[in-house]
Amino acid sequence: MKFDIKQFIRPNVAKMKPYSSARDEFKDFDKEMIFLDANENPFETNVNRYPDPQQRKLKSILSKQKNIPVDQILLGNGSDEVLDLIFRAFCEPSKDNIITLPPTYGMYNVLASLNNIENREVLLDSDFQPDLDEISRIADTRTKLLFFCSPNNPTGNLISSEAILNLLKNFNGLVVIDEAYIDFSEEESWITKLNEFSNLIITQTLSKAYGLAGIRLGICYASSEIISVLNKIKPPYNINELTQQKAIEQLQNVEKVQMEITSLIEEKNQLLKALNEKKFIKKIYPTDANFILIKVDDAEKRYSQLLENGIVVRNRSSQPLCENTLRITIGTPSENEKLITILKEFK
Ligand SMILES: *Cc1c(COP(=O)(O)O)cnc(C)c1O
Repeated sequence: MKFDIKQFIRPNVAKMKPYSSARDEFKDFDKEMIFLDANENPFETNVNRYPDPQQRKLKSILSKQKNIPVDQILLGNGSDEVLDLIFRAFCEPSKDNIITLPPTYGMYNVLASLNNIENREVLLDSDFQPDLDEISRIADTRTKLLFFCSPNNPTGNLISSEAILNLLKNFNGLVVIDEAYIDFSEEESWITKLNEFSNLIITQTLSKAYGLAGIRLGICYASSEIISVLNKIKPPYNINELTQQKAIEQLQNVEKVQMEITSLIEEKNQLLKALNEKKFIKKIYPTDANFILIKVDDAEKRYSQLLENGIVVRNRSSQPLCENTLRITIGTPSENEKLITILKEFK
């Protein structure tokens, strides 16, 4: 199937002219200049100037590390902003629809509601894998987006690459793969397939493996055509100066990040062993992420017991296929040790 992105851009977005900021019009940041163009306060505070709206330094580092051209990268105020931009660029409110595969990340549905887009939900199967027949049955000419989350939240598993490949080839719409947890997995990112599939959009984040949830930095990788549409509609200064500085600092320190990831995976394996010995835990789901989903005898009871002992986990029981489940994030070695000690007391 030939995918033509032009057919998917909302007409108002295709027509609109983006806001042009002072920093957009003047691009030569390298030379010493006197900036009297943006009504800023000239006295130095480190953040008295507007940030670079195109985040050139940050993107050039990502570009080198991920081996992808700068014009195929868009940054957002968290992945949540990136996902919202995707809705607003490609989905016509009250006309278009999207497909999501619950149990999965809650923001796809929140953003669909916010943008008044119908969310057609196709439940994952009992192994938390997509139901391809049902997806193709439910998709129609107004289905613009299909969301995969891999590794999936809250289940923790990878989505089968055959299923994703099948839909990249056969679904006539944009396929969004949310890779918030990809750094914890052995599986490689779908970034390497961007040249092959012009309908592919990948989102990543610095909120999980990179330890920077507080700065809000989400990343989108896609064709340069898709990225230019998203660039056109993004708020001009959506990535603040402090975030850009902190992200650059952390990306230049990838060895430290890699060591933390290795340690978290090691910790996860320890915790998995300890959980395995508990009778009240009925099932431990396979995980490629930095969390573990478990099915217990009574989620409400176990949740409260943990809370009484000063440990907060997430009760995911309200999600489809997740009755009596708790999601446990991997903590520091001493936090995990405390959890294991407390669990030993549980009858
Ligand atoms: C945590 C998480 C994100 C991260 O969102 P940010 O806005 O970048 O913090 C994205 N997708 C999934 C599935 C997540 O679990």
